[in-house]
Formats: sequence, C-alpha cells, structure tokens
Amino acid sequence: MNLDPRTLLFSLILTCGLSVLGMFVAATCRSGGRTRDGMGKWAAAMFLQTLTWGLVAARGTIPDFLSVIAANGFLAASYALMLVAIHEFQQRQLPRWQYLVPVALILVISAILPDNIRSRFIWDGVIYALQMVLIARALLSDRKTRSGQAWRLLFGGIVMLVLVLGLRGAVALSGHTDFAQPQNTAGVQPIQIIAFIAAMSTALLGSIGFVLLVKERTDREVMLLAMTDSLTQIPNRRALMDYAQHALARRNGLPLALLMIDVDHFKLINDTHGHQTGDEVLSKIPVLLAGRLRGYDYLGRYGGEEFCVVAPDTGAAGALELAESLRETIASTVLNTECGEISVSVSIGVSCCRPDAAPELKTVLAEADAALYDAKHSGRNKVVCFGGEKV
Ligand code: GH3
Ligand code: MG
Ligand code: MG
Repeated sequence: MNLDPRTLLFSLILTCGLSVLGMFVAATCRSGGRTRDGMGKWAAAMFLQTLTWGLVAARGTIPDFLSVIAANGFLAASYALMLVAIHEFQQRQLPRWQYLVPVALILVISAILPDNIRSRFIWDGVIYALQMVLIARALLSDRKTRSGQAWRLLFGGIVMLVLVLGLRGAVALSGHTDFAQPQNTAGVQPIQIIAFIAAMSTALLGSIGFVLLVKERTDREVMLLAMTDSLTQIPNRRALMDYAQHALARRNGLPLALLMIDVDHFKLINDTHGHQTGDEVLSKIPVLLAGRLRGYDYLGRYGGEEFCVVAPDTGAAGALELAESLRETIASTVLNTECGEISVSVSIGVSCCRPDAAPELKTVLAEADAALYDAKHSGRNKVVCFGGEKV
C-alpha cells in the first residue's frame, strides 16, 4: 500500500486538532467536578502536537529552526505535558527533571543535527522513547485504574509508539541513510510512514483513553456517593441491602446472621439536646460498632437511628456473642458531644439463617425486626435472637 506522507501529515494535524477540540469540550463540560484531573494538560499536549505536525508539514518553506528545532521541541514538550497530565490525574508529584530534561535534550540534538535526519531518528528516538517509558511507568504504578478498559487503551497507544520509535531507530542504526524529508512524496521510507501512523494512533487512543480514564473514576466516585450515608459515612440502606442479598445468595452452605440495631429512646436525645446533637450521637455510634466488628462483618445504616450488621459464616452462638459485645460497647461508652457527655444504649434483634435454609432477605429482615421488637419490650438495652433466647 502506497500511502502519501503529505496526506498522512494532514491527517495527523486533523487528528491532533480534533483531539484538542474534543478534550476541550470534555474538560469544560464537567459539572462541578474536580478540575485538576489532567484533562486541561492533555488538551494542551494535543495542541502542541498539532503545532508540531503543522511545522513539519511546512518544512522547506519555513526556516529550519522552526520546522526542525521548534517542531521537535514542541513534540517533546507535548509528551512531557502528557506525563504531567497523568500525574495530575493521579494526584502525585512529578520530579521536575522528568519533564524538563527530555525537552532540553531534544532542543540540543535538533540544534546540533538539523540536517542529519538519520542521526536525529536515532537520538531523538531514544529521548521520545524514554518519555513514553516514563508515561508507561506512571500508568503502571496506578493500581486503582489499571484494571479498566480506558487504561488498556491508553497504555496500548504508548507501548505501540515505543515499539515503532525503537524500530525506526534500529532501521537508522542498521546503516540506512536515504530517509526523505517527511513533506516529500518521493523516497519516503516505509518506516517513516509507520511512524506517522503510530503517532496518529497514539494521539487518538491516548486522548480517548485519557477521557475515559477520568470518566471511569468519576463513575466510581458517583457510585460510592450513591452507596454511602452522608451523616455517618458508612454504607447506606441501598448498599446494605445489595450486600445482604449477595451474602445470602452466596453462602455456600454456611450460616449467616443479620443484626438489627436500634438506639434506645433516641427521640428523647433530640428533644432534650436538639437535632444537631442527635446527629452527632448518630455519627459516633457506627465508629464504636465498627471497632467491635470482625473484618468480614458488614455494617450499614438501615434508616433513622437503626443500623444493621450482616455477619457471614456466623451461627446463632457467634451472632449472639457479637451482638452482646456491640450492645455492651455502646452501653459502657460515654459520648462526648458539643452539649456535653451523653450515654446511650441500643437494642439488638438477631436473625440467623441456618446452613440448610434458603430464606429471602425480606424474611430475614422481618425476623430481626420481630426480635428487635421483643428486645424493646423486654426493657431495651437487650439482645434477642429470633425464636430464641434473650441476653
Ligand atoms: P425506641 O427506644 O423505641 O427506639 O425509641 P426511639 O425514640 O429511639 O424511637 P422513635 O422511632 O420514637 O424515634 C426515633 C427518632 O429518631 C425520631 C427521629 O426524629 C429520629 N431520627 C431519625 N433519623 C435521624 C437523624 O438523621 N438525625 C436525628 N437527629 N434524628 C433522627
Ligand atoms: Mg427506630
Ligand atoms: Mg430507637
């Protein structure tokens, strides 16, 4: 296939220019979210690449210091900005040398070897490849985003450019001398065409990948917000029900317990000290409860002054022991609030699913609720197991 390098250069300018537009729109359309997420820097990197390829296309008609030195300087600066953008996205500090040194080296090499395209393919190639390796390393170090599709797209684009730069350097090193200036149609080597295609693919995949990376993180944050109770910062009713449903379905023949915890006479606290103090008390209770739970127990706010614990792999005896330790912790702790010290107690209803039973979640909840009702009616500050004993 005979691809015309001037058409490729034009496509490259168009791709980078449209990426700038796309990134700019994506960066400005964020609704009240984080603004320091790297999108602005990535858009600026694409803008520099658009300038780079514009200057390269004009080679021969404009002075060399623009079409060679400035063009290569802009390209190195754009890769440096991509690295800065990724660090801004990851909210990590970037050592200055990682973005300053490559740009300085490229400017020096381009100034020393403006007419020697073969030597520049070798030396510039090494620096650009080093910049890509720094970007790849930064991407690899981010465990949270590494599993997503966006990450793969971005990483794939970077790896492809490293490989092509290495190949172009190897061809130049192998003694090949008759490289053509990129704006010519005659004498352009296949590896030069491949390098253009790689640069275009990296700009496109990188920009789409970066926008998706930001979107994936925003989705995760929105999901977390939708599943978290804003007062207590623990899972809300929706998250709790989702978890309980899954835990019930995947018991693998193990028992499971559900504890419904209700603060005693909580209305009195509101009436005596005001709702703000009531909120303060409510936000301190889960902290105390969490201190007593085991790693695999799941605590959530069921609603109002009621909390639930889902305790997988827990039979009746273990559930009663756990509930009793929770009740005891709350009863024996004095809470320091803006209105002074306040003591509260909780009543707990426990429902236990035997390994051989397969009840629905609503049945388990109804049993825990019935046990809680019994605990309240037997004097409060009590633990009652459905169909069983009181503590
Ligand atoms: P019992 O021992 O029978 O559980 O008595 P109680 O007063 O705790 O129960 P009741 O259901 O009569 O009252 C619960 C109160 O909890 C009423 C409601 O205003 C209050 N409440 C629910 N959610 C919140 C909240 O987010 N903040 C505050 N401050 N109060 C809340
Ligand atoms: Mg209640
Ligand atoms: Mg209550």
